[in-house]
Amino acid sequence: MPTQPLVIAIDGPAGSGKSTVARKVAARMALHYVDSGASYRAVALKVLRAGLPAQQEDSIVALVEKLQIQFSGTEGQGPVLVDGEDVSGEIRAPEVTEVAARISRLPGVRKRLVALQRRSVPLEGVVMEGRDIGTKVFPDADLKIFLDASEEARARRRLQDNLDKGRETTLEQTRLEITRRDRLDSERKISPLVAAADAVKIDSTELSVDQVVDKIVSLVNERCAARLGNS
Ligand code: C5P
Repeated sequence: MPTQPLVIAIDGPAGSGKSTVARKVAARMALHYVDSGASYRAVALKVLRAGLPAQQEDSIVALVEKLQIQFSGTEGQGPVLVDGEDVSGEIRAPEVTEVAARISRLPGVRKRLVALQRRSVPLEGVVMEGRDIGTKVFPDADLKIFLDASEEARARRRLQDNLDKGRETTLEQTRLEITRRDRLDSERKISPLVAAADAVKIDSTELSVDQVVDKIVSLVNERCAARLGNS
């Protein structure tokens, strides 16, 4: 049995398929799944409800300190709870997405959410997805994946997600939304979206979800065999 929980980090831009893939890898490997973006979204929702401007760091940090966020679940089944309220649906609203990308630039917010993410690793191990999991949250992760896809493919996937959720939008609008968010996430000074030097890069443009999941599961079995007790 591993002495330290196994940590698989999956980072990548919006629409790269991280959440779907991470959830499936976690289920296949019997690991816990954590969507770190949900914690930024939960803060953004509270900021919006409080009517705070997204750059007002002191007030937002004070708000984060009081929040109880629960944002992980086995096989991704757990709801996102903020102060006990299930906000799983509400945090996916477009205005929350926009504010999440803005408050995630604030060092005080990141410091507290990174600490929360580090505390969210159960003994059975975790697949955690986000933007800085391999670079900042778990620089010593057992396996780091950087998942990417062409802008066209990412926009099409996000459009389909939106339509499935009943959100009327166009491909062009969706493309603008993801490129603006990628720019905010990649250009910020603190923990920008960037592949860790030791991450395995996977381009999923031409791959199905299951092909990406198979690739990652093989990598986990190959590279973490000793940790999994398979050697
Ligand atoms: O992954 P998701 O789209 O839910 O993330 C929402 C926003 O939260 C991102 O655009 C990004 O600004 C921020 N985020 C982050 N670091 C993470 C996860 C998400 O900055 N590890």
